[in-house]
Amino acid sequence: MIKNTGIHNNILELVGETPLVKLRKTTKKLQGSYFAKVEAFNPGHSSKDRIALHIINVAEKKGILKKGATIVETTSGNTGFSLAMISIVKGYKCILAVSDKSSQDKIDLLKIMGAEVHICPANVPADDPRSYYEVAKTIHKKTKNSVYINQYFNELNIEAHYRSTGPEIWQQTQGKITHLVAASGTGGTISGTGKYLKEQNPNIKILGVDAFGSVLKKYHETGKFDKNEIQPYKIEGLGKTLIPSATDFDVIDIYEKVSDKDAAFSAREIVKKEGIFPGYTSGAVLQATKQYAAQNYFNDDSFVVLIFPDHGSRYMNKIYNDSWMKNQGFID
Ligand code: PMP
Repeated sequence: MIKNTGIHNNILELVGETPLVKLRKTTKKLQGSYFAKVEAFNPGHSSKDRIALHIINVAEKKGILKKGATIVETTSGNTGFSLAMISIVKGYKCILAVSDKSSQDKIDLLKIMGAEVHICPANVPADDPRSYYEVAKTIHKKTKNSVYINQYFNELNIEAHYRSTGPEIWQQTQGKITHLVAASGTGGTISGTGKYLKEQNPNIKILGVDAFGSVLKKYHETGKFDKNEIQPYKIEGLGKTLIPSATDFDVIDIYEKVSDKDAAFSAREIVKKEGIFPGYTSGAVLQATKQYAAQNYFNDDSFVVLIFPDHGSRYMNKIYNDSWMKNQGFID
């Protein structure tokens, strides 16, 4: 069915087919043309609707997900929201292990969407029993008829973007895209989208965005997992303290790291200059684009697509709150 025409059987039919919007002012000083893939247009307001729906649909087809089952997942909030939404429509129970770094808005939303939420400390190693990875695994083991979505190590995460985000961008740009700039968390978005785009045109550059405090960039460059890279940071959903197998590092040409402060200001700049209200990582993606531009990655012929993963409403008590910005020392 063509989206937004006629009647939909349920909200899940509206996942995907998000718009590509030309950025007019934030990238004015940069060479080339810039377009944002605004993933907040998904019904769950983020790109995670795509992977959640794909993984659940495949699990149902394979008979792994049975009636009355419980869906368990590790999430910074967005995947949780998508899973909770899908669980309501399809009649599953949803239990989520969420990091305490996630904004209160996101946690409240998960509860409103009917999920059982377990808050776990962000600043412990991934293999610590208190980490949200380990807590989710334990819940899965203890809960009968449960399915662990495991987005960090699930190939279907890449496949969801390979099948939807990639083809959409290729069609929307009529094959003109020269660069993709995307945040890397689980890596599903950048790897799946990048893989599809590179298959259409191997000259397309896939530019990753990582956070200071994450291990991804160093791992990509050296093949080594360096614990010394790990330090606390504020951006949710970007970067990692482990190496997710849902990241296909071969697809990614290069990573750029951004700071919490620069990403926060760039998100606010998107609001003020474009009238788009994006999440924290969208700010990170714009910030990285500026940093790539400063290193002469683009020229007048560049056709650059930036993926904006989610909606600003999830960060009202964070980057869009002046007191929070002051507490971080970002503004006086
Ligand atoms: N931005 C936000 C807000 C996210 O929640 C995530 C997912 N953790 C990402 C970006 C990164 O997407 P991916 O996991 O596909 O790399």
